[in-house]
Amino acid sequence: MQNLMNIGIVGLGLIGGSLGLDLRARGYRVLGVSRREQNCQRASARGVVDDASVDPATLTTANVIFICTPLAAIIPTVEQLIPHLSPGTVLTDVGSVKAPVVEAIAPLWPNFVGGHPMAGTADSGIEAAQLDLFALKPYVLTPVAKTPEQACRTVEEIARSLQAKVYYCRPDDHDRAVSWISHLPVMVSAGLIAACMSETNSDVLALAQHLASSGFRDTSRVGGGNPELGVMMARYNRGELLRSLQHYRHNLEVLIDLIEQEDWTALEQQLKSNHLARPQFIQRD
Ligand code: NAP
Repeated sequence: MQNLMNIGIVGLGLIGGSLGLDLRARGYRVLGVSRREQNCQRASARGVVDDASVDPATLTTANVIFICTPLAAIIPTVEQLIPHLSPGTVLTDVGSVKAPVVEAIAPLWPNFVGGHPMAGTADSGIEAAQLDLFALKPYVLTPVAKTPEQACRTVEEIARSLQAKVYYCRPDDHDRAVSWISHLPVMVSAGLIAACMSETNSDVLALAQHLASSGFRDTSRVGGGNPELGVMMARYNRGELLRSLQHYRHNLEVLIDLIEQEDWTALEQQLKSNHLARPQFIQRD
């Protein structure tokens, strides 16, 4: 029965395109909506969609629609789409911040389930779309009290069909959690790169650039990524990001104090406790 569903995707970039590839591979019929005719043709050629159009009215027959635009465009896109929707259509989005999106859309369209597939690459656009991007990755759903259970079940079923691991939480809790493990690391890593570039001795800077290896590659990766994504995180998750950055600043000051005081025992204790804590974030069952 589920394979007869029509699934709409608005915004045929990395996430929308990857969703289209996976959903078609699982037998769903995928209808894409893009802002540009050229992108519709590209999406068809890449096998991302069964049909694509620049006209949102083509989604009237969709049972479920994924909004896959950048965060700033999610709410205006839903507002544009609503006049064309059938009342039973389930809407969901893939934005990486949930509270402001859910607060704005839930009153406009009761059959809306906030979502965040936590998978991506450093690239963007339809060319970056890839099969199985979401397999074994978390897919967070953030319903609110009034969200119909059937709508959650429908989106959950689709997410599970992508082999993603589904988690439910409140939108606020999602935003606080991703601030710790995604948005704070971007800012910390950005600060690291900027600090290295503040080296005033050009010979030493060039030497550091030659010597940089896997440690620097790991710690600088997210801070040297797509600037637009970093700005979106800061704009839309500002409160939680500031809160986690302030905790981070406090922890940095503690480390500075320990080193200034040459308190190697306390420093070692702190590093031992971090060594034990890290696997709790990165080990998967
Ligand atoms: P992307 O590759 O840039 O794709 C976004 C697509 O949205 C574009 O290809 C474009 O498609 C459309 N779009 C761009 N600007 C728009 C505008 N002003 N109005 C309407 N549509 C617009 O970005 P993405 O990485 O797929 O991110 C899309 C969403 O996924 C974001 O909300 C992001 O928070 C979320 N997300 C991203 C990642 C990640 O790692 N990248 C991970 C999880 C969630 P058309 O040209 O076809 O219109």
